[in-house]
Amino acid sequence: MRPLIAGNWKMHGTLRDCAALAEAVRQGAAATPPAAELLVCPPFPYLQLVAVALLGQGIAVGGQDCHAAPKGAHTGDVSAPMLKDVGATHVILGHSERRANHGEDDAAVLAKAEAALAAGLVPVVCVGESEAERLAGDAEKVVTGQLAGSLPDGFAAAGGVVAYEPVWAIGTGRTPTEAEIAAIHGAIRASLVARFGEQGRALRILYGGSVKPSNAKAILALPDVDGALVGGASLVAADFLAIAGAC
Ligand code: PEP
Repeated sequence: MRPLIAGNWKMHGTLRDCAALAEAVRQGAAATPPAAELLVCPPFPYLQLVAVALLGQGIAVGGQDCHAAPKGAHTGDVSAPMLKDVGATHVILGHSERRANHGEDDAAVLAKAEAALAAGLVPVVCVGESEAERLAGDAEKVVTGQLAGSLPDGFAAAGGVVAYEPVWAIGTGRTPTEAEIAAIHGAIRASLVARFGEQGRALRILYGGSVKPSNAKAILALPDVDGALVGGASLVAADFLAIAGAC
């Protein structure tokens, strides 16, 4: 399957920075079209600008979160139909920073993923263990439990994406070993096939956590690694494109 390289810009940059980053990604991808599909997820206030700049350029744009309700009295929140309305095609859900900073549990992520599907957005659902859970030998149990609790029934039919992001590898420069990544991606694949049958084989499983140009090739070559969710390195267009070029 065609790999997906997704950039999570988090809460970084100004309007000007995000416009320049989008333009640099557009130019770079146009000059050297990567084998991978590209997705960028800017901060909400800049999403429409980036979506317009990338329209028709073969680079998808996504939100970093959405509310479970389509509309209502939810101050500060953004709905899935709003994201769709301004040009998003994807939405990251259940990122560990949302799970930790906003108390989002699997049930909350499931409700948001249902909302994304209802709005016609592709959910990119993040799962991943803490360092203590990995050291206790519970990584696989935690991750498969999160999948069971966070993925809606319509996930596979909509081409949903799973992002495996060990919490301790995000923004730390540390990554699991290649064997550890391959093992847990294999377990995620098995869980997707058990839940969704043959459709589960066609779903992308991204690795996320300190992916950079220097380690991308080795990670992206592992079985059942169908792309990457990239945080820090996605803020530098050349690095993001180098990761995409490593597929
Ligand atoms: C992320 O937050 O999704 C992420 C993978 O961050 P980083 O690449 O900076 O570790």
